[in-house]
Amino acid sequence: MDESTGTAPPKGTPTEGFCSWHDRISEDVRLIRLDSGDTHYACVHCIRIYKLTPYEDQ
Ligand SMILES: [Zn+2]
Repeated sequence: MDESTGTAPPKGTPTEGFCSWHDRISEDVRLIRLDSGDTHYACVHCIRIYKLTPYEDQ
């Protein structure tokens, strides 16, 4: 039997990535879609500071 080891992170798990707003790696980023249609990642702090709306919440 080849059981799934579950490599995919469960929903709601923080995603590490590069925050385009403060130009650093953050351990919890969300995808942001700009008015121009471009998508960037922003950390939760920059989302709060710049009043960004995560893509999944739109
Ligand atoms: Zn940031």
